[in-house]
Amino acid sequence: MKRMLNEATAFREEMIEGYVAAYSRFLRRVPDASGVAALGAPTAEKVAVVVGGGSGHYPAFYGLVGEGLASAGVIGDIFSSPSGEQAYRVAKAVESGSGVLFTFGNYSGDVMNFGMAETRLRAEGIDARTVLVTDDVLSAAPAEADRRRGIAGGFYVFKTAGASAARGDDLATVETLTRRANARVRTVGVAFAGCTIPGQTEPLFAVAPGMMEIGLGIHGEPGVRTSEIMPAREIARLLVQSTLDDAPPDAGSRAAVLVNGLGGTKYEELFVLYQGIAPLLAEAGIEPYEPQIGEFVTSLDMAGCSLTLYWLDDDLTPLHDAAARTPAYTRIGPEAARPRQVATASTSATPATPSPDTSDAVSASDAGGQAGVAGTMMRRALTRILASIEEAELELGRLDAAAGDGDHGMGMARGFRAAVSAIDGFDGTARQTLSRAGAAFQDAAGGASGALVGAWLSAIGGALPADDDAVDAATIGAAFGAGLATVQRLGQAEPGDKTMIDTLDPFVSTLNRAIADGRGLAAAWREALAAGEQGMQATRQMVSKRGRASRLGERRRGHQDAGATSIFYVLRAFGETLTP
Ligand code: ADP
Ligand code: MG
Repeated sequence: MKRMLNEATAFREEMIEGYVAAYSRFLRRVPDASGVAALGAPTAEKVAVVVGGGSGHYPAFYGLVGEGLASAGVIGDIFSSPSGEQAYRVAKAVESGSGVLFTFGNYSGDVMNFGMAETRLRAEGIDARTVLVTDDVLSAAPAEADRRRGIAGGFYVFKTAGASAARGDDLATVETLTRRANARVRTVGVAFAGCTIPGQTEPLFAVAPGMMEIGLGIHGEPGVRTSEIMPAREIARLLVQSTLDDAPPDAGSRAAVLVNGLGGTKYEELFVLYQGIAPLLAEAGIEPYEPQIGEFVTSLDMAGCSLTLYWLDDDLTPLHDAAARTPAYTRIGPEAARPRQVATASTSATPATPSPDTSDAVSASDAGGQAGVAGTMMRRALTRILASIEEAELELGRLDAAAGDGDHGMGMARGFRAAVSAIDGFDGTARQTLSRAGAAFQDAAGGASGALVGAWLSAIGGALPADDDAVDAATIGAAFGAGLATVQRLGQAEPGDKTMIDTLDPFVSTLNRAIADGRGLAAAWREALAAGEQGMQATRQMVSKRGRASRLGERRRGHQDAGATSIFYVLRAFGETLTP
């Protein structure tokens, strides 16, 4: 696969700069953040609608920033959630006193990172709320509809939120209508071939010749099941049937229809598909409302498509019809409407490079304390961990690709690189060192593991004594206990869910038992590491219940969990610095 690319590490930054340079008539770069804001935002008295997620899905999500749609978009790396810090900065930049509505697809990385931004805004007295997009019918059963992931139907949810905010509705109303839109939208997708991340040589998953995947994810996750390839008319039947089978209870007969290409399927093919879809909808008594055919949420170069039905009602129709003006989607208002006035863009875009400096974010835990050998030990450990993760980067990527999106190695390496550079030349306490490292990790890594591992490091740091003199086996054991508790609180995973918890939980309990039995730290660590390793290996037999891998169920039994593996390497490298 040949890609338009300079250095893979600069991809996101260069992509944003090019985008803003081209579309400064709609939007501007948010200074010092990975995101863009509509030219008019913030607008006094109007709710700020903030969308976002990983990139690789254009025109989702930042293509939909502009008048009448999203106030801002937060932009992560390819298929990787932006960090909580970035989501916070972008939301802050467009908030005007009327509150913030975050709306984005239901992926654990996004949920955790945007969740942290929401919590931080609320702590400052800003009303911030979230509506998750959960339109992907095949990703969870109807009884668990709130666990479904978000795909192409997100377009209608964002459009509803943006139109409601633009006409001046208050936050409670914007939230209610956006939730209702999500409750009335359903999508089903199929894929013919996987996609390749820029800078990598292999696609994230392969579809065997003559086969197709049904119920694919938009991050290169393979489908929920495989089938023999069908002609377009049968795909049309499958898509229409699966969406109609899951219609909301009070659906009615008027549904907006969206046929979405995933990036590697041509518009002409989508028209052929729609030729099969239209009569089936008519047969089912559905009146297609302003059908749209094109790319709304892509998955890099993935070949395939999805069908979205969005059952309108009298409140939602005017929001669907309202005018919007963004780089990827423009409409002048209701079909019969008169031309409207469009505000002219007076400000020009000022592209800015986000500063990775997170030193002030941790000032609370940075205060006070006597530095000593423990601080030095933590810094040595972090350097050792970075080396070990960089060595395992490809392996971790492969493990993640088996069930998720293949970015885990990259994310972990990026996180620890940032952590190590944040403590470069620093000579504070162990507590300060880990708190700093955690904040830097969280901001740089993104994704589910960025939020979790960043919070884990910060929590271990925050639980250590202020003075390095007081750091000993018992306090380290307790601090790792606090780290585990934080990851569980944030991610809600239990042992057996096939996550990093399966390594961390046996590790922490064995460590603290051995320390209580009087073992020295190095010896206790060895015992704990063996328990963690067993836990890691046991994930091979587990069915994933958390994170994006959980959508694949039984299909992915047999693969060791990526996060359980990387956290084991982290603990092992940490232990190596304990034994002189
Ligand atoms: P993403 O899923 O956003 O791409 P990564 O690929 O970096 O994030 O990390 C995936 C790993 O994160 C999984 O292998 C799993 O161990 C861990 N993980 C995901 N969700 C959770 C959760 N809710 N609790 C604990 N660990 C989780
Ligand atoms: Mg991943």
